[in-house]
Amino acid sequence: MRILLQFPEGLKQEALKHSKKLEAEGHEVIISASPTFGACDLALDEARDLKADKLVHFGHAEFHHVDFNVEYISYQIDADLSILQKSLDKLSGFNTIGLVTTIQHIHQLDAVKEFYEKNGKKVVVGRPYGFAKKPGQILGCDIGSAASIDKQVDAIVYFGGGMFHPLGALLMTTKPFLVVEPFQGSVEFIDQYREIYKKRSNGKILASVKARSFGILVTTKNGQHNMAMAKLLKGKIEQQGMSAGILVANTFDFESVSNMREFDAFVNTACPRIAIDDTDRLPKPLLSANELNEVLRIKKELAH
Ligand code: SF4
Repeated sequence: MRILLQFPEGLKQEALKHSKKLEAEGHEVIISASPTFGACDLALDEARDLKADKLVHFGHAEFHHVDFNVEYISYQIDADLSILQKSLDKLSGFNTIGLVTTIQHIHQLDAVKEFYEKNGKKVVVGRPYGFAKKPGQILGCDIGSAASIDKQVDAIVYFGGGMFHPLGALLMTTKPFLVVEPFQGSVEFIDQYREIYKKRSNGKILASVKARSFGILVTTKNGQHNMAMAKLLKGKIEQQGMSAGILVANTFDFESVSNMREFDAFVNTACPRIAIDDTDRLPKPLLSANELNEVLRIKKELAH
C-alpha cells in the first residue's frame, strides 16, 4: 500500500520512526513536509496527487468525514498531575469549577476531576457541541465544552500545554479562567487577556472604517474551507458600494498577502483563530466575519 504520513509540527520529529515501521511491514511510505494545523488540515491534495491508498494523520482526532481513506492516530500525553496541588490555593474562593482540556490529555480528565473533588470542589465537565468529540475537550475553534458550563461554575480550569487552546475558551466565557500548565509548571489566571483582545478587536474595527476594498481570505483546507461565507461577505461589501476580492490559498503566506496593496483590509473565513492570533502579521487590519459586520454597520450609520 502507498501511504502518506502527516504530522503536526510537534510530532514531525518522529516521522522517520513511523515511516520505517510501516516500510518494514511492506508499505511504500511518503512523509508530508507541509505545515499541519489540525485534522481540519488533512494533506488530501498531496495524497491524491501521489495516488496514495491511505493518509495516516497523527496527533488529532477526526474533524469531519472526508471522502478519502484516512487513519487518525491520536497522541496522548501523560502529564504530571502533581501540579494540581499548586492550583488549590488559587482556587480557594471557588466552590464549583469547570474543567477543560485538549485531546492529548482527555484520558487524564477523570483523574483531574477526582483530585479536585477529593479537595472539596464540585466539578462540572461540559459536553462538546461542535468539532470536538469528547466531554471536556476543547479545540482552538471549538470551545463548546467551556461555553456550555459558563453559567454553572464559579471558575474554569484548563489543564494542558500552551496558551492556544485556553485563549479561545477564555474569549468565549465570562468566569475567572485558570490555566494549569504541567509542562511549564505554571498555574495562572489569564482573565486579563479578555480586555486586551477586546481592545485589539475594537482597534481593528476602527482602523477599517475608512477601508474601500477588502480581500477575503479563503483556504482550501478541508475543514476550514468556507467559500459560501466568502461570497456572502463579498456581496455585503459590494452592496455598500465598496469592492472585494476573494483570495485563495492553502496556507496563507502573509508576506504574499501583504503584497496585495490594493486592499485596505482583509477578512478571514479560514481557521477562526487567524483573525485573533495572526493580526500582527499583516500591516492592514485582518478582520473576522463578525468584525466585518460591525465595520459595515458603522459605515452605514456614518453614511446617514
Ligand atoms: S483552531 Fe483552526 S487549526 Fe485548530 S482545529 Fe480549529 S480550524 Fe483547525
